[in-house]
Amino acid sequence: MNKKITVIGSLNYDVILKIPRLPFKGETLTANGATFSAGGKGANQAVQAAKLKTPTYMVGCVGTDASADFLVNTAKEYGVNVDYIRKVPGSSGMGVINAVEDGSVYACIVRGANFEVTKEDVDNAMPILKESGVCILQNEIPVEIIAYAIDKAKEAGCTVVLNAAPAIELPEECLSKVDILVVNEVEAEFYCHEKIDSVEKAKTEIKKMAEKYNNNVIFTLGKDGAVAYENGTIEFIPAMKVDAIETTGAGDTFCGCVLHYICEHGMEGLEEENLKEMLTFANAAASVITTRK
Ligand code: ADP
Repeated sequence: MNKKITVIGSLNYDVILKIPRLPFKGETLTANGATFSAGGKGANQAVQAAKLKTPTYMVGCVGTDASADFLVNTAKEYGVNVDYIRKVPGSSGMGVINAVEDGSVYACIVRGANFEVTKEDVDNAMPILKESGVCILQNEIPVEIIAYAIDKAKEAGCTVVLNAAPAIELPEECLSKVDILVVNEVEAEFYCHEKIDSVEKAKTEIKKMAEKYNNNVIFTLGKDGAVAYENGTIEFIPAMKVDAIETTGAGDTFCGCVLHYICEHGMEGLEEENLKEMLTFANAAASVITTRK
């Protein structure tokens, strides 16, 4: 198995405003504070994989604004190879998150440079895709690029993982061509057209989904843990019991761990025991992440 990971996806500059409540129309509300950080599902997952010491390449775009260098440098500081991140004129991707004191979150995403990723960017990454055991994509770049990248990554011999987040309409062939589909409960409901309100329901729906698309599927279930369907086997592993204070990015940590595990063991090695081990590992890391800001 090739021990490299390629992530083709988003880099976002995240602004998190801590607010006591939502402002009324026309009101200027004073926030209790703000934090700024490098984010985006693609970059987050790349950082998690790199932290686990698997050589990880990020393919994507940033803008020419003030946050562009910050995004590239932060990924680099965590050990991500940034040679395939291209600068395009205009703004970088951005996330503006209003975190209300009662725990509710209202977020907006600015697509920015993430929507400038082209087929050529994917073609340019072919040499590293050929050296990678696993390639992951998310839904924060244009759908036609996701579809193209899935084909190219398969052509290069990668195991292809799609973290279909956020939930958007995708061509069915995208879902059926990937080796592993990872979604959280909300995204699972979108793709299954069913409410996932229990572990039992998740097990029923994951089987239907995996059989429909003839692939392997993982549902992350927040504090409940995660369930996976791999080649006819269904495994559920509970999350660790922790005092969660901030769950943003937990799914990205989970995905980064899945990438690392598959890179180490290969899809062939993903039988029952390994599947349990992978879910236990990814759950543990994602659970720990929720105990920190
Ligand atoms: P996302 O971050 O994409 O919404 P989830 O909320 O399903 O995804 O969380 C991903 C993983 O993070 C879960 O499968 C679980 O392992 C862990 N996790 C999330 N929330 C908690 C929590 N409150 N307590 C423990 N683990 C958690």
